Amino acid sequence: MSVFDHPEFDQHESLHFVQDPNSGLKAIIAIHSTALGPAAGGCRRWQYVNDDDALTDALRLSRGMTYKNAVAGLKFGGGKSVILASDDAPKSAELFHAFGRQIEALGGRYITAEDVGCSVEDMRLVKEKTNYVSGLPKSGDSAGGDPSPHTALGVFLGIKSALKAKSGNDTLDGIRVAVQGVGHVGLHLCRLLHDAGATLVISDVNNDNIQLVRDELPVTVVAPTELLYSDVDVLAPCALGNILTSQTIPLIKASIIAGAANNQLATDEDGARLAEHDILYAPDYVINAGGIINVAHEYYSDGSEEIVRTDIERIPERLDAIFAEALETGKPTNAIADELARRLVSGQVHPERRSA
Ligand code: NAD
Repeated sequence: MSVFDHPEFDQHESLHFVQDPNSGLKAIIAIHSTALGPAAGGCRRWQYVNDDDALTDALRLSRGMTYKNAVAGLKFGGGKSVILASDDAPKSAELFHAFGRQIEALGGRYITAEDVGCSVEDMRLVKEKTNYVSGLPKSGDSAGGDPSPHTALGVFLGIKSALKAKSGNDTLDGIRVAVQGVGHVGLHLCRLLHDAGATLVISDVNNDNIQLVRDELPVTVVAPTELLYSDVDVLAPCALGNILTSQTIPLIKASIIAGAANNQLATDEDGARLAEHDILYAPDYVINAGGIINVAHEYYSDGSEEIVRTDIERIPERLDAIFAEALETGKPTNAIADELARRLVSGQVHPERRSA
């Protein structure tokens, strides 16, 4: 497949295919836009079926970061990296050092952090070779550390926003929520939802992660193939993307979809399909911005825990505006968010004067 004609290419500024034979590193670094600042987005380490899948993932995630950072009002453009995991290239200090050297070579056009398959410790290793990295071990009260609790907080507040838009009441007491994927974000989200009185249904392909939640909280566990179709009020996807499709949407019983996973919609048309089924969809990159908000304050050294929290508490305002516009115009929520993001990136609207 030609890279420039790739259906997800969408005017990426640059794409970098990098490798290091000694550590086995093979990675793709995608820089979608630096219009609003250096391209920032996490590093995903994943065992892809083939290189094309890795490229598609990198391109989609990278564009999503441009939109996410713009809508969250951050001084960041959008980028993302994927490390192609394989048995020949296990996680090692050498691998993350090699990755760090490649990021350093980009001279600050791309800033990395952790995503699926990477940890704070991995980013600490990257930091030994470059300063263009965030999500590092936290020190004192300043922003930093694992972004996932911050992402979970934003998603939790976003679920309340969606409940209010749907039923006029944002209480979680007695609300049934299905959480797909109980990794870093999913676990924290389950805790917040449980504390607020929600009833939880969960699934994961990793039994250890399920057990961690089970040891701590009352949950119903269902098979990964069933979770999407659970009889619940809210579906919170917190695993991987491309789960909302023409096949899955008609079978979903939840009336709200609000979760952390990036690229939940397989295609833009699936946003319209959700609206047709009267399912309120919280655009993924709007609701899951808590982690990158923390990363931004850490990177620019301009925020305490309290400032990060205050910024995350603004996520519901953005969702409220998107939900209100959807109600008024009948447009799908993903289309409203995308239009706003594109206007922000092209400078047609100032971040502080947007309508959503
Ligand atoms: P994670 O790797 O810690 O957790 C993902 C979990 O999903 C794992 O436990 C995995 O076993 C599980 N999983 C994978 N496929 C599954 C399936 N088919 N069914 C059920 N479970 C499945 O990742 P994370 O950091 O918690 O991120 C979760 C999602 O949220 C990802 O899409 C990520 O890109 C997105 N996200 C994360 C952050 C963050 O701060 N970590 C920020 C924004 C967006």
